[in-house]
Amino acid sequence: MVAERRSPIQIGEGVRRVLKYSLHKTSEQVAIEKSLYRILAEDLIADHDVPPFNRSPYDGFALKAEDTENASQQHPIFLKVIDEIGAGEVSTATVDRGEAVRIMTGAAIPEGANAVAMFEVVKEQEQDGNQTIEVGRRFSKGQNISRRGEDTSEGTRLLKKGTTITPGVIALLATFGYKYVSVYEKPRVGIFATGTELLDIDEPLQSGKIRNSNAYMIASQVEKMGGEPVYFGKLKDDFEACFVAVTKSLSEVDVLITTGGVSVGDYDYLPAIYKKLGANVLFNKLAMRPGSVTTVAEYNGKLLFGLSGNPSACFVGGELFVRPFLKQSYGDLPYLAKTKAVLQTDFPKANPFTRLVRSRVEFTTNGIEVQPTGLDKSSSVTSIAEANAFIMFPGGTRSFEKGATVDVLLFDQQSGINPWNE
Ligand code: AMP
Ligand code: MG
Repeated sequence: MVAERRSPIQIGEGVRRVLKYSLHKTSEQVAIEKSLYRILAEDLIADHDVPPFNRSPYDGFALKAEDTENASQQHPIFLKVIDEIGAGEVSTATVDRGEAVRIMTGAAIPEGANAVAMFEVVKEQEQDGNQTIEVGRRFSKGQNISRRGEDTSEGTRLLKKGTTITPGVIALLATFGYKYVSVYEKPRVGIFATGTELLDIDEPLQSGKIRNSNAYMIASQVEKMGGEPVYFGKLKDDFEACFVAVTKSLSEVDVLITTGGVSVGDYDYLPAIYKKLGANVLFNKLAMRPGSVTTVAEYNGKLLFGLSGNPSACFVGGELFVRPFLKQSYGDLPYLAKTKAVLQTDFPKANPFTRLVRSRVEFTTNGIEVQPTGLDKSSSVTSIAEANAFIMFPGGTRSFEKGATVDVLLFDQQSGINPWNE
């Protein structure tokens, strides 16, 4: 059999083709405690002012600013303390001229008061059994008052649907009384590992065989991207068995990822499976290293990601193509954020194609530094472990020297800026 010739496309073009598709989104209600990192399926609108009442930001005394108009160190004024309230309490008293209410942080400003003097700036004294305070400075109206609605006012759209729920978002949900929150259902992402050489992870090594690391790696990548991995197991390199398994699984998931078998080797059956299915192959060759064989096909509107079996290439394929597809589908920022970093070692290889090197970025007092994390081969599994970024060497470049400023893509920072504007 003559190996088929494939024409490579640029990564950016591949991403563009993938992003023409989108998932059908459905939403579900989850308890706020279970909502961290889920994606909001509704806008969050403030249904009341925050804070909902004028309150004291300090422990001190609520008073009338007018009373302090002529107050100074030399000529302090004296106010009668008529009530005291803690946070959560509301005074029934009205503050009149010459009066003050002892008030704690978070308590509602009493009727009649329009400023707060902190404990530190007044002197407390008892006169004839009455509590009084001595105030030796002026206060202006509204001074030291957390105004109702100063944080946000009723009717404000605070968050758009598609926002990832972070601890700060959870604080807002709680503020507005969301015991349950509407989030997008996680897309079900099916995973098959293919390869007769694969052992389950609890099997002892045998000659010629290796353990299946990709399935677990890609499942955790999918989980990190907000998807729900559905691991269907590993498949031997057998066309019929693979075809049946892939076809059957398609009805159970929103997206299907396979690893391995996508190249042009004798036992690489994925291309023939796409063909027999009648799937529309978006691309099957990319001008990139590693992962040039990464293939994406569409069948009945569902995307099938055929990732390389080589662990580093599989990882790259997941981050570069699966991630933007899932993220865009929820309305989240699709791309890994790109920034610049200073290379800490020589990189002697030439880069005929865009190269993604598993690397570690450190934010140091010297700035952002980056260093490859291990063997730069698509088959390397160890280089992925400590990586938090890819160095992105552009295609058509020669070696890079220590000290060079290079582009890096950060695994933990999403962006709306397409890094592949080649
Ligand atoms: P393939 O893409 O099927 O040609 O596989 C490329 C290389 O990746 C081969 O050396 C495989 O043994 C290896 N490989 C394939 N699948 C996996 C897997 N699930 N875990 C680890 N290595 C794999
Ligand atoms: Mg294989």
